[in-house]
Amino acid sequence: MNLHEYQGKEIFAKYDLPVSKGKVVTSLDEVEQACTDIGGSRWVAKAQVHAGGRGKSGGVALCDTIEEVADFTKKWLGKRLVTYQTDKEGQLVSCILVEECTNIADELYYSAVVDRSSREVAIIASSEGGVNIEKVAEETPEKIASISLNGKDVSKGDIEKICSTLKLNETQSSQMEHIVRKTVSMFFECDLSLLEINPLVIKDDGNLHCLDAKINIDSNALFRQKELQEMHDPTQEDPRESEASKYDLSYVSLDGNIGCMVNGAGLAMGTMDTIKYFKGNPANFLDVGGTATQERVAKAFKIILDDPEVKVVLVNIFGGIVRCDLIAEGIVAAIDEVGVEIPVVVRLEGNSAEKGLSILSNSSSKIQSKNSLEDAARTAVELAK
Ligand code: GDP
Ligand code: MN
Repeated sequence: MNLHEYQGKEIFAKYDLPVSKGKVVTSLDEVEQACTDIGGSRWVAKAQVHAGGRGKSGGVALCDTIEEVADFTKKWLGKRLVTYQTDKEGQLVSCILVEECTNIADELYYSAVVDRSSREVAIIASSEGGVNIEKVAEETPEKIASISLNGKDVSKGDIEKICSTLKLNETQSSQMEHIVRKTVSMFFECDLSLLEINPLVIKDDGNLHCLDAKINIDSNALFRQKELQEMHDPTQEDPRESEASKYDLSYVSLDGNIGCMVNGAGLAMGTMDTIKYFKGNPANFLDVGGTATQERVAKAFKIILDDPEVKVVLVNIFGGIVRCDLIAEGIVAAIDEVGVEIPVVVRLEGNSAEKGLSILSNSSSKIQSKNSLEDAARTAVELAK
């Protein structure tokens, strides 16, 4: 689960990390009071969306007057912001973070992530901030310090490596040590999977400061992070993905036009590979699970059909634990409810497959059944053209 920048910074403040004084506004009327409360004479206004790249897309503005903050607010509130990290629809801006403007001497990069290969938390720091870290890693790897922690321990050596890569002086190094220790505590205590400060800046007075905050919480740990769970903002998620998660369906939206309904994550991957092999493009990943009920299958089918890009649905079910006739009933129930205008190609195999196929073939002329995944995928790709 992702957090907004302003929520991330609230947590940063609790961990005594240096963030700018700021206020969140959700309407134009609040702007003047917010700027007055923050004080100073320059502000930065930042559209709050679950995506980076806002700076390059006009979603961050440095403002010399309250009027400019108001103009920015008027421009973005209720609109959708498109950045290189969003899809072409962009993300809804439902609030603006107004902050006192920081005078920047240098922009650095800092993050903590779960490193799957070492099964530890890794810290990545770079002297190149405010830019795409993948690009820095590719072009100038010497500018990046990457450290795999040993459990929750941060050694003196780790700190030294980070500080020397960032070319920090003594005062900055002790500030950096504080930032590393606090972010590592936060990472474990809040069950994060990503914590990114890009940029971490050196201010014109030489002090380190967190200018941005990107936080991702491990969704599997949310049951014990009630306070963080309250920060959930469903407007920032793909509506089909959040609908699917309510029913415990693993659904991921993709760019293609072949809707996929499969049981088991491995089979779902295999199905997507097979579609790709025949030069088609899946519209989604969907695992209805091994214990799919008729209701969940119907829900899943409706979610797939809800995607306007979908030109054909490919159902690939292997009945191991799940019975194919139950899946078939679910599909028929969904079709009865929402109707289906597009072709549906079905491959059912295993437990009660024949019964399932006869239920389907009696229900709609839009349904074609195939005996092998290869045939089914090839047919779906043809029909999607
Ligand atoms: P992102 O583009 O979505 O990652 O948004 P950021 O929060 O990283 O802001 C983008 C850029 O705006 C930063 O890299 C800074 O260059 C600039 N910026 C943000 N806040 C301030 C500020 O307080 N002062 C100044 N001078 N620049 C800022
Ligand atoms: Mn940023």
